[in-house]
Amino acid sequence: MGTDSSTAASTKKKILVVDDHEDNVEVLRARLESRGYEVEGAMNGQEALDTVSRWYPDLVLLDVMMPDMDGLEVVRRLKANPALPFIPVIMQTALDSTERIVAGLEAGADDYVTKPINFAELEARVRSLLRIKKLQQDLGDREKELSEMNDKLLRISLTDGLTGVDNRRALEQRLHEMFEHSLRLHEPISVVMCDIDHFKKVNDTFGHQAGDEVLKQFANILKEEARAIDRVGRYGGEEFLLLLPGTVLDAAVTFAERLRQKVDAHTFSYEGGTLNRTVSFGVASWPHPKIKGREAMLKAADDALYVAKETGRNRVVRFDSPEFNEHTGNEADLDGSNEEGQHIPPRQSGQASLAAEGNA
Ligand code: GH3
Ligand code: MG
Ligand code: MG
Repeated sequence: MGTDSSTAASTKKKILVVDDHEDNVEVLRARLESRGYEVEGAMNGQEALDTVSRWYPDLVLLDVMMPDMDGLEVVRRLKANPALPFIPVIMQTALDSTERIVAGLEAGADDYVTKPINFAELEARVRSLLRIKKLQQDLGDREKELSEMNDKLLRISLTDGLTGVDNRRALEQRLHEMFEHSLRLHEPISVVMCDIDHFKKVNDTFGHQAGDEVLKQFANILKEEARAIDRVGRYGGEEFLLLLPGTVLDAAVTFAERLRQKVDAHTFSYEGGTLNRTVSFGVASWPHPKIKGREAMLKAADDALYVAKETGRNRVVRFDSPEFNEHTGNEADLDGSNEEGQHIPPRQSGQASLAAEGNA
């Protein structure tokens, strides 16, 4: 019995009865409690507002005619408080006061009963409003769930499943934002494109699982070395891109060189053994006369990476170096607008997107 009543208490709906006549409060309290509701009373407007903020009733039964703050003002304040959930309010008003009923509903009351109160009617209205409150709450819960699900989907759609770093779409979005920002403030920005050397051999010799492990560990090295404001992402199969806002070319090259040495010294482990691998890097920056936009910068980094591959791998090549010009033709067509100037043979894979610029 004791356990039963305490369980029931926790699910009891809470009703606040507001009336400046204590007798009225007590009559309603007795009747509502006998119907299984939990009741508190308040004798004036301020006490009502305080009790609502402290006790969060499921419904308020409110006398309109009270000295000091009348019921209309109480409703207005309740409904204007964004910290409160939806709390239905039923006004009690005199039978002959149509104007007052209209004013109460305008003020935000959800329903009304006329005095003297017909208890059966009151109870029906209480139940109906509590039903609406429950629907409202369910809807709120659904909305919250949906919004969380949306956030999760958005995260997934921008993340590379294997390595947990940004995927290509995220990188492209970020680069767009960062480049706009750089243009606006005339702040430098660099990109580093990198590609694991002879990665195919990892798969062929040690198996695809080992290849996956190498990709994950390589992504971790990049994440560890990058600053918080940098973005690290997987641009293609075993090709990664780093976006370095506020970074000039020299600093980006130094950073790439540090990464190159890290990987060179790193021993990758996989289930069944260990292996070593090197990485090639291409670095490009804005501002530079040849870099007209973000796509041109990406292409320059990708071309520099290609030169690094051509000239022996495990190297960092900058887009403004003599060897870059030597290997790509002195007037390398960095903005992709002059097909005649394109001396670089097309890449087999992982070629940077050369889509039309929208921002230069
Ligand atoms: P290079 O030094 O010229 O870059 O040679 P490479 O072998 O690294 O380059 P290539 O483009 O010939 O081969 C890349 C390989 O990467 C082929 C592809 O099967 C493999 N690969 C791409 N994505 C994944 C992946 O998610 N997991 C694994 N295990 N392998 C992948
Ligand atoms: Mg490779
Ligand atoms: Mg590749």
